[in-house]
Amino acid sequence: MKREETLQRIRTRSSAWDLVVIGGGATGVAIALDAASRGLDVLMVERADFGKGTSSRSTKLIHGGVRYLEQGNLTLVRDALLERTRLRNNAPLLVHDLPFFIPCAGRWQRIYFWAGLKLYDFLAGRSGFGASHVVSTAQAAERVPTLRPQMHRGGVIYHDGQFDDCRLLIHMARTAAAHGGCLINYVAATGFEKNAQGEICGVELLDSETSAAFSTPARCVINAGGPFSDEILQLDDPQSEPKLAASQGVHIVLPREFFPGQTALIVPRTSDGRVLFMIPWHHHVVVGTTDTPIPAAVVEPTPQRQELEFLLQTAAEYLTRAPRPEDVLSVFTGVRPLVKNDRSARTASLSRDHSISISDAGLVTIRGGKWTTVRKMAEDCVDRAIESAGLQAQPCRTQTLPLYGGEAPPATPSGQASPPSPVAGEFASPDAAEQAALLQREPRLAEPLEGLPEMRAVDVVWAARFEMARTVEDVLARRTRWLFLDVRRSLAVAPQVAALLAEELGHDAAWQQQQLAGFQAVAQHYDITHILDHAG
Ligand SMILES: Cc1cc2nc3c(=O)[nH]c(=O)nc-3n(C[C@H](O)[C@H](O)[C@H](O)COP(=O)(O)OP(=O)(O)OC[C@H]3O[C@@H](n4cnc5c(N)ncnc54)[C@H](O)[C@@H]3O)c2cc1C
Repeated sequence: MKREETLQRIRTRSSAWDLVVIGGGATGVAIALDAASRGLDVLMVERADFGKGTSSRSTKLIHGGVRYLEQGNLTLVRDALLERTRLRNNAPLLVHDLPFFIPCAGRWQRIYFWAGLKLYDFLAGRSGFGASHVVSTAQAAERVPTLRPQMHRGGVIYHDGQFDDCRLLIHMARTAAAHGGCLINYVAATGFEKNAQGEICGVELLDSETSAAFSTPARCVINAGGPFSDEILQLDDPQSEPKLAASQGVHIVLPREFFPGQTALIVPRTSDGRVLFMIPWHHHVVVGTTDTPIPAAVVEPTPQRQELEFLLQTAAEYLTRAPRPEDVLSVFTGVRPLVKNDRSARTASLSRDHSISISDAGLVTIRGGKWTTVRKMAEDCVDRAIESAGLQAQPCRTQTLPLYGGEAPPATPSGQASPPSPVAGEFASPDAAEQAALLQREPRLAEPLEGLPEMRAVDVVWAARFEMARTVEDVLARRTRWLFLDVRRSLAVAPQVAALLAEELGHDAAWQQQQLAGFQAVAQHYDITHILDHAG
């Protein structure tokens, strides 16, 4: 994961890659990992940073989807639950069991949800996740101490997975690189080279750091552009019809005092029929999400006033202390890449399952899906690419392939339920020992950063040296998660991050100023005060 070396490897390449994957979100990185671990020669290019798109902006759940259960889509739920177990086994440090409380209005509702969630447990099989059970009003009050007593008469607890999306993405990228995959950020696919038969045989690329344009030969190209995959399709065929509908989902982040305890909350039907989660995450609480159709995907989506009001109002209905806009530490928004499968205008009714198609020129496009199922999506997609391009590869290995830092044996024998993580929303790092060694060599890196002492200089240097962080935003949004957790504190610490990065990457004072201006512009999309001041 060293960008200069990786770029050199791509630029000096003369023989064709087996696969070039466009897009460095969950789907693209999972494909690179699947391909590299099968012995394929794979390049993955991401035009911004790994996870800059939807993959850093999820609700942070590895789940079968209780909502799909209610819709009767049992196959989708069962497949996702199987992937939930696999991901937890392969990445035990980053995927945890988390109990969820569903508040119920009375006995019949408790029975209804309990029966449904027993079916959920049954579909999960011997998953290692805890079993669903009914809890009394008093037990619920103990588990979710800030839930307003008027909002429930007991309820049901069920278990699902929670994770840190972008951290998992970086670990997947490191695993792919360890298997020989070539993954790079800040390189965009800008066009295709085609042979005399009109088949794609190479990809035109642009290094956005230097504006250098070059091309690289490929036997097969995969479009994993998520919400932007229609744009990539148009590079192949400008006449191609849009296949995706875009919808955005907003989350607000509150201080943990609003929602202490080790149990998450799910409101299965809010005032407008949506599902809402309140989830402990990195000492904070994430509340979301919305589902609002938008005309087209944008790189930095902005929450709408009504979405923020809806989240605050619904949180206020359920919590003993109603959050106000000034309590919101950060807001983040993701764009759902939903595959159009009917003419319905309601995005919630469009498929969240994945689909794979191959164009006349041989471009393989994968759309839809969710974080929980990316391993399976990647397996299906690489299978199709192998078949279509006649590649030689070993069978898929990712079902049991430990991800970076996941090599330790599971805490309990397979199939037995292990207790949920003692501290919900906290994740261990596999890098602790190596970081300690680095601090011995360079003790100055142990310094906590002013204004955000939870961060130390070593976090910045580590991200730049070993995880391809290139900008202040990369460090604060996706190597650490501070932009998502607390926009104001991120802004306060940004100058120190810029200075450390500049020293590490060899940049000057002008670069630091540019970085700060860029970061401030992005941070506006996470800052509720700015959003409400400028919302129509
Ligand atoms: C609000 C919300 C909450 C969600 N919560 C959950 C959840 O809790 N659990 C779950 O399982 N799933 C969840 N999902 C779904 C999941 O997050 C997405 O399915 C997944 O992240 C999509 O990943 P992706 O790689 O397909 O897209 P993206 O992450 O958007 O990645 C696509 C990448 O392609 C890059 N790209 C585009 N064009 C080019 C180009 N020309 N050259 C190079 N790169 C390019 C983009 O920069 C981008 O980084 C959620 C989705 C949303 C919107």
